[in-house]
Amino acid sequence: MRDQGVSGAGKRLRVVIVGGGTAGWMSAALLAHIGRGRLADFTLVESEDIGTIGVGEATIPAIKRFNRLLDINERDFIRQTQASFKLGIEFVNWGRDGTRYFHPFGPIGEPLGRTGFEHFLARRRLAGHVESFEDYAINCVAAKLNRFRTPPRDGSVLSHLSYAYHFDASLYAAFLRRHAEANGVRRIEGKITRVGQNPESGFIESLTLADGREVRGDFFIDCSGLSGLLIEKTLNSGYDDWSHFLPCDRATFVPSERVEPLTPYTRSTAHSAGWQWRIPLQHRTGNGHVFSSGFMADDVAADILIRTLDSPPLAEPKFLRFKTGRRRLSWNRNVVAIGLSGGFLEPLESTSIHLIQSGLVKLLDYWPEPDFNPLLSEQYNRAMATQYEGIRDFIILHYKATEREDSEFWRYCRHMAVPDSLTYRLDHFRAASRIVLTPGELFQPTSWLAVMLGQNIVPQGYDPVADIVDPVRADAEFDALRATIDRAAQTLPTHAAFLEGLRA
Ligand code: FAD
Repeated sequence: MRDQGVSGAGKRLRVVIVGGGTAGWMSAALLAHIGRGRLADFTLVESEDIGTIGVGEATIPAIKRFNRLLDINERDFIRQTQASFKLGIEFVNWGRDGTRYFHPFGPIGEPLGRTGFEHFLARRRLAGHVESFEDYAINCVAAKLNRFRTPPRDGSVLSHLSYAYHFDASLYAAFLRRHAEANGVRRIEGKITRVGQNPESGFIESLTLADGREVRGDFFIDCSGLSGLLIEKTLNSGYDDWSHFLPCDRATFVPSERVEPLTPYTRSTAHSAGWQWRIPLQHRTGNGHVFSSGFMADDVAADILIRTLDSPPLAEPKFLRFKTGRRRLSWNRNVVAIGLSGGFLEPLESTSIHLIQSGLVKLLDYWPEPDFNPLLSEQYNRAMATQYEGIRDFIILHYKATEREDSEFWRYCRHMAVPDSLTYRLDHFRAASRIVLTPGELFQPTSWLAVMLGQNIVPQGYDPVADIVDPVRADAEFDALRATIDRAAQTLPTHAAFLEGLRA
């Protein structure tokens, strides 16, 4: 039986999105909205029997750009997804047991002249100052006080507040589904049991559902999750396995009651063979323990998770297995993998939803003509490789830069070989506080600085150009900035009060 509605669409490009998780509905909502009915016809196929991953609740600030592209009203979004605000991530016990630091989204300090703040920080440290970079970052100071507001546009220190959201992933998918369907996306419920390919080109032509219906298409967006139904199971695109750098391969997770006070940040607490997240939402708290099955058994991991919850659990813990890495080809023939089908990086820096977003934005940059010029897929694959590898290095940094030796897992991480690209960055920072980035990378100097200093990587020098600025003047600027940030943070409402105001 042929699905007439799809195959009878004439010459217009027929785009079929496989999967209705966060990736599927983000793809459908964005492409249909941007396309304004002229780009293509969109159909989304999903199976309630298979279901979605349903975790994935913390984001980075770029998500605001995604929502803006969709003309989503922030207040509406906050109400409908039970969202809260996120100023960054608190890392507990990562450097050593008993230590903590904050990775803020906003800036750390201000440059003096053309020289970055980090160089003056290093110079002061070498001169004997003991201080934390956090005192020079409005996001860190506000987070410590559990305070938040959206930044005013007045050039004040509060205008430097930078934020993302925590939200309920299933509510976000439902929110985007309404948006996508209002823009003409057609949803088909059904389990795909067969994939039809052109015998010569290998291009995918049709999907057959369990009840015999056939969905035909010209271009397929594979959002089928970890299984990679089209990109891997059908097209065998290959996978770069990064488990030797990132040995966590399992997660157990459970929601718990809302925690007071409502923190405007995610917390990541290191345990003996992995780490635990705590994500505060309006109606509940998301919790999970990411661990390495080579170093810890499931029951031990779940026991640690339950014992360390800050509020009573609302369900039994669930488990997931994953393999860290990246699909070698994100775009193969007429299939683009978006979401977990394209790769998996553990949620330590909340990057998966961002990778969905950046995959879609890049896809719009290289949107195909009906002849599928391979130059487009080649450029797309290069751009996605840069994104993945930059994030990979940044996540490995958290493990490699530990001083923990208290478990077999941490000894492995501390002494493991890391990609040359990361070693090179560490060498630069240790030598002279320099933060080396590749163009197109996601994480910017502030992020690298926070994690490197937070985990006690101590620079032995700094950019000699900093010495143009008199140390007495630099010290005065430091004192003034610290005092301004402190005063400004005190004027902020609590995170809970601000959210309440938005909801009212
Ligand atoms: P899925 O949610 O698995 O959806 C797959 C879809 O494909 C489903 O609708 C399914 O029904 C459909 N499907 C599959 N096979 C078929 C078939 N044969 N026929 C029909 N339909 C089919 N990301 C973040 O950004 N922040 C976080 O804090 C975060 N935390 C995470 C924690 C954990 C433990 C894990 C594992 C991931 C986390 N992520 C996080 C990642 C995030 O969950 C995913 O990026 C996001 O959910 C996207 O998943 P997806 O849509 O690609 O896949």
